[in-house]
This record gives sequence, C-alpha cells and structure tokens, in this order.
Amino acid sequence: MKIEIIKCLEDNFSYLLINEKNSDACVVDPGEAKPVLKFIEENKINLKYILNTHHHGDHIGGNNTLKNKFSAKILASENDRERIPEIDIFLSDGQVWKDDIFEFKVISVPGHTMGHICFYFFNEKIVFTGDTLFSLGCGRVFEGSNKDMFNSLTKLKSLPPVTKVYFGHEYTLNNSIFCSKFDENNSELDRKIIDIKKKLNNGLPTVPSSIKDELDCNIFLRAKNLKEFSKLRDLKDNF
Ligand code: ZN
Ligand code: FE
Repeated sequence: MKIEIIKCLEDNFSYLLINEKNSDACVVDPGEAKPVLKFIEENKINLKYILNTHHHGDHIGGNNTLKNKFSAKILASENDRERIPEIDIFLSDGQVWKDDIFEFKVISVPGHTMGHICFYFFNEKIVFTGDTLFSLGCGRVFEGSNKDMFNSLTKLKSLPPVTKVYFGHEYTLNNSIFCSKFDENNSELDRKIIDIKKKLNNGLPTVPSSIKDELDCNIFLRAKNLKEFSKLRDLKDNF
C-alpha cells in the first residue's frame, strides 16, 4: 500500500492509499475534489472508497464530486449519519473493515466532534487521525468535553510507538511554538523542531509523524491527567 499526500485547501492534508498491484485506491478526507482528481487522472488510479474522519467541510468537501465521478463508496461513522451526506458504509467503534489490501480498525475519538473516528491500518501500522491528533497538538474541543478528548487521545497513545501518524492539517510549526513555551528542556522536542523546520524549508510536509515522536514531544499527550490536559487546552485556545 502506497500513501500519497495530497494538499487541499489552505492547510489540509488528504491522503490517497493506493494498492500498487491494481491501482485501486481509497482517499482519506478529501477536503476538495480538484487536487485529488488531478492526481487520480494523471496516475490512472481507480478510486473505490472515500474515508471521512469527521463531518467538517474541510474534510468532506470533495466527497460528492469524487463519489459521482468514480462511483466510490463513502465510509464514515454511524454517528455522522445525519451530517455526512450519502454515506454507503457505516462504521462503528472497534470494527475491523476489510476490502482486498485495505484493512483497518475504527477507533472512535469523540471530542473535536462527537462522530470523529480514526482509521488504524494495523497491518502497515499507520493511523489517520483527522483533527483529533496533530503533530505536536490536538484538535479543538468543539462538541465533546475535555474529558472526551483526553480519553480519545489516551486511546491513540496506546498504539504501537512505531505507528505512523497521518494528521489532518499542517499546523506543526505553530504547534511547536506552544509546546516549546510550556515544555522547556525537552531535548526530544528540540530535535523534533529541527527536523520540522528542515522539512518545511525544503517545501516538504511534516507528515507523517509517529506515535513515539508524539509521546515524546506533544505536550497534550504528555499531560498526566485530565486537569493538566484541560489547562493546556485552555491555554492553547487563547494562544
Ligand atoms: Zn475539523
Ligand atoms: Fe479540519
């Protein structure tokens, strides 16, 4: 399975997962259709599935066009039944879904939205975290409580450290400023920031990160309890 990073809108990441044997593909969170279409047409990809982490427009904006053009099926949380149009396959927490080489486990992560899910491709050890876990940050808590978000992040923390993290937005540099302000003397964070700046200076995305890097460097994952987490989330909301 090959992963192609497709930049969408301002700072969104969409991902094409491609079965290299037959060019079948899934797209994760197509924020808009145009750049995804461009890649599909230039590379003769067969788009079969559209995977949505949550219902926000910057993650589903391309659904309709892509579904109509390629008869792709939309997979999303059963909890987003009323909010994501034309879902074909409803997913629930803990479910394993499989088609050919695409096989993932659904991890329900309420907080940013109540229907938010992550796609964990356990064979490849890759997780798509949408707007729940960013590199060096986490999503704003729009619908759930801080407790929901804290528990959701705790679930992600238990994934194998080698797991690669593909997140929804290029917020990493900004997030790093917050982390270094409130987590001084973290040498792993210093190392990560050097790496991030190198990538960005070369015009590269900071995706993917890894669970290990985030455990070491992401202040929201380093929070020891709900109280500490909530304090950080409040500080970040006003940062
Ligand atoms: Zn969102
Ligand atoms: Fe978003």
